[in-house]
Amino acid sequence: MTAREWPNILITGTPGTGKTTHAALLVEALQQAPETSAAPWQHLNVGDFVKEKGCHQGWNDEWQSWDVDEDKLLDELELVQGQGAKVLDWHTCDIFPERWIDLVVVLRCDHAKLWERLEKRGYKLNKIEENNEAEIMEVVLADARESYAEEVVVELRSESPEEMEENVGRILQWVHGWRANNADDSDDEA
Ligand code: ADP
Repeated sequence: MTAREWPNILITGTPGTGKTTHAALLVEALQQAPETSAAPWQHLNVGDFVKEKGCHQGWNDEWQSWDVDEDKLLDELELVQGQGAKVLDWHTCDIFPERWIDLVVVLRCDHAKLWERLEKRGYKLNKIEENNEAEIMEVVLADARESYAEEVVVELRSESPEEMEENVGRILQWVHGWRANNADDSDDEA
C-alpha cells in the first residue's frame, strides 16, 4: 500500500493522442473540485522535464527528439513524485517503477485522425509513419499492460472534445475513490 496522501496518475499514449491536453484539463479540474483542491496538483510533462533538467544525451535529428538518459530522468523524477498529486504525461510508460504510479491512462485514437494531428504538428513523414504504426499495433497499451497490474491500466478513447471531457470526469471520479479508500486504510491503522 502506498504511503502517499494523493495518487500519481500517468497519462500515456502514442504522440498526438491527447496526453498533454488531457493532463492540463485534468489538473485544472482537480484543482477546482472541492474534494481534491487541497492537494498541490502538478502537470508534469515528462518530455519538457527531460529538456529542462538535461536528462538526455543530445538531440536526435533523424527522429526529431531527445535521446533520453533514463537513469538521470529517474533520479530527477524520484525527487518529485514522492509527495503524490502528479499528473505525468509521456508517450513512454514502462520506465517508471511500478510503485510510483497509481493509475495509468492509455489514450487511443483512430489512426487516420492521428495522422492528421501529427501532420498539423509538422512532424516529418518518418515520424508520422512510425507513430501511426505504433498506434495501430497498440504498442503503448501492450507496454502498459506488461508493466503494471491489470487493475491500474485503463484504456480511453480520445477522438473528440466530448470524449476528452468524459475521460477527465472519469479520472476525477477515480481520484475521489482512491482518496476514500486511502482514508479508510488510515482509519483502520489508527
Ligand atoms: P499528445 O500530448 O498526446 O502528443 P496533444 O494533447 O498535444 O497530444 O494533442 C494533439 C492535438 O490533438 C492537439 O491539437 C489537440 O487539441 C488535439 N486533440 C487531442 N485529443 C483530442 C480529442 N479528444 N478531441 C479533439 N482533439 C484532440
